[in-house]
Amino acid sequence: MSGSRIYMDWNATAPLLPEAREACLSTLDLVGNPSSVHGEGRALRTLIENARRDVAALCGAKAASVTFTSGATEAANLVLTPDFRMGRTPLKIGRLYASSIEHPAVREGGRFAREALSEIPVTSNGVVEISALQDLLAAHDRQLGLPMVAVMLVNNETGIIQPVAEIAEIVRAHGGILVVDAVQAAGRVPISIEDLGCDFLILSSHKIGGPKGVGALVARGEVMMPVPLIRGGGQEKGHRSGTENTVAIAGFAAAARKASEGVGQRMSAIAALRDRLEAEMLAAAHDVVIHGRDVSRVGNTIFFTLPGLKAETGQIAFDLEGVALSAGSACSSGKVGQSHVLTAMGYDPRQGALRISIGEATTQADIERCAAVFAKVAARRRAPGQAA
Ligand code: PLP
Repeated sequence: MSGSRIYMDWNATAPLLPEAREACLSTLDLVGNPSSVHGEGRALRTLIENARRDVAALCGAKAASVTFTSGATEAANLVLTPDFRMGRTPLKIGRLYASSIEHPAVREGGRFAREALSEIPVTSNGVVEISALQDLLAAHDRQLGLPMVAVMLVNNETGIIQPVAEIAEIVRAHGGILVVDAVQAAGRVPISIEDLGCDFLILSSHKIGGPKGVGALVARGEVMMPVPLIRGGGQEKGHRSGTENTVAIAGFAAAARKASEGVGQRMSAIAALRDRLEAEMLAAAHDVVIHGRDVSRVGNTIFFTLPGLKAETGQIAFDLEGVALSAGSACSSGKVGQSHVLTAMGYDPRQGALRISIGEATTQADIERCAAVFAKVAARRRAPGQAA
């Protein structure tokens, strides 16, 4: 990590991988438009189609099912719509059922009207309540159109893994469409769109070490697609018009190749560091609450509440000590809001929680320093007149 600062906010953005940087730089000088038929254009077209293959491989999909977008937020807005097409035949979606812990990119409901949105609750462990989903789908009025369900594979705040394959079976039994935000899962758990059984996956480049501002909507098939959000020149088979961001796509593909390599081995090394840090935190402050510790989580995330310490105050204290981490839902707007994820899990959101998220570049020394800062912050919160 650069200077004396420690970056522990990988779920907000992972540092750019050298391979992704190199891919971006070598594409920057390529002249031509990927839609042009001349040699220069065709070279860029080849680069994009190879990138499509690499991104597809990250989630076991067919290359033809990948639509590049400006990021996961755009991919969500593209797919979350009442208007689909099955080939050329219009297909109506009547309602969107999204889990209460979705990222705002999904939670806002894309192109659905507010009245057409329903929330699927989660348990206090932060896992989607399967029985509630079953009840909601059983009560769905099919006259309005098909039901659409949106559940993330890994939550960005807690790191908790959702039972997507089980959810997919339920959605299928009700003839619905399942959209999975796999942004925080990519590169951290093996992903197979077939095994998950979902209809669409959403990916983002900057969470896996690629550049910001590029992502993808990945479909399981090629026949059923949402009505486009961005119309124009018909790029991306008409699903997303506009000259492709070739530089960013090249970087995304390089990051996707790295993210596909040895996920299990990479993550167990990261999880060992995470577990070590958690053990140190628990030793320094017995009352620290680590959310989601009893359920399946990705190995890089610690979402915790320190009683007596407000999340905003904690974030500043860590920052002043040179440790970058997140509080609440700060990753989107810069201002610290109350965590809707904590609220959904039934916690009092006023105190909030802090998120430590690490990655491949995190070292043992970083963990030790972060543990020392944690101990200092935890001790200080109890000092008279200093509790936040
Ligand atoms: N979904 C999840 C789970 C995220 O963590 C994020 C980013 O914070 C997004 C969607 C939005 O991604 P992007 O920044 O590519 O629009």
